[in-house]
Amino acid sequence: MDAFEYTPLHGRVVFGHGTLARVAEELSLLGCRRAFALSDPHHAKTAAAKLLEVLGDRAVGLSTDAVMHTPVEVTERVLDRVSEASPDCLVSLGGGSTTGLSKAVAFRTGLPQIAIPTTYAGSEATPILGQTEQGRKTTLRSLKVLPQVIIYDVDLTLGMPVRLSVVSGVNAMAHAVEALYAKDGNPVTSLLAEQGIAALGRALPLIAADTQHREARSDALFGAWACGNCLGTVGMALHHRLCHMLGGSFDLPHAETHTVILPHAVGFNRSAAPRALARVARALGVDDAADGLFDLAHKLDAPTSLKAIGMAESDLDKAAEIATSVPYWNPRPVDKGAIRALLEDAYHGRRPSH
Ligand code: NAD
Repeated sequence: MDAFEYTPLHGRVVFGHGTLARVAEELSLLGCRRAFALSDPHHAKTAAAKLLEVLGDRAVGLSTDAVMHTPVEVTERVLDRVSEASPDCLVSLGGGSTTGLSKAVAFRTGLPQIAIPTTYAGSEATPILGQTEQGRKTTLRSLKVLPQVIIYDVDLTLGMPVRLSVVSGVNAMAHAVEALYAKDGNPVTSLLAEQGIAALGRALPLIAADTQHREARSDALFGAWACGNCLGTVGMALHHRLCHMLGGSFDLPHAETHTVILPHAVGFNRSAAPRALARVARALGVDDAADGLFDLAHKLDAPTSLKAIGMAESDLDKAAEIATSVPYWNPRPVDKGAIRALLEDAYHGRRPSH
């Protein structure tokens, strides 16, 4: 066993079917009475309404304003409403964007949070907050933004369309893949990473065939937690750096970008992290991790090229320049020429190079 350091994250997890009904009980366990609910426009009339019903007179306000990339203007608007309602906790229900809004409010108010995720993004399990201000995305790490309780209700994910399920699931897998070769990796996170990749790798094809597949939905949501936990406990590398840059500078959609880039980032790191990537391959039941991830995306009809998700070919040089302008750790050292070649492969949707 190699030397390692590991700091587990605090936080209670309640996982199952129909667990939304347990929110009031969890509120009491936290010692809270006055909940401000957060969600997004998609859930406003359905799950968010159900959340208010379950909270009853413990709900002191609701905002369904969450949008992608957590713009600071939205957070500030919601903060005004939160301060008028004077809650003693936040309860968020939605995808990574809703969790992001809750974290942004918690960061500014110190309020405890219960997160009820409806996608596989994994943000609920991390002390990381990404926010945008005047088109610039910045990221901070603070235990103030880590939810105290996560309620995973598999039933809330049954209605997730195939495309969102697949790209969100691959987004989660990316956290676990990079955790396996992280500079500060450790055996506990690696175990969770392998479990998470295996669960999602098994579940996503079943979900693509039948979105109501209860067992596969349950596996995928467990995988999302396991992978989110990886993102929360160790540092990420080239893949996350590229996706952050492509989302922030070229406005590409978050989970889709992860889906396109992952096989290429893994291909790039193939020779520098053979043990870690053998574990990814084993979890997926394939011979080669990069090829396996690429084939999985194809099989699931997910996007496999940057071109298909809105990138302009003329931006590839600029993207390679930005991606290599600030040094960062990666198992294989990064240089502009190699990243330009990687991005070009990803742009055209080619099989990751060997
Ligand atoms: P999202 O929350 O924006 O959701 C995508 C769309 O799907 C939205 O329109 C939403 O209303 C809808 N949706 C959500 N759940 C649904 C469901 N069950 N059924 C049908 N539609 C549903 O997207 P996301 O991919 O979950 O999250 C992306 C955001 O999360 C990005 O801003 C990303 O930066 C952030 N993120 C942060 C972390 C972190 O640790 N801080 C980790 C992962 C992602």
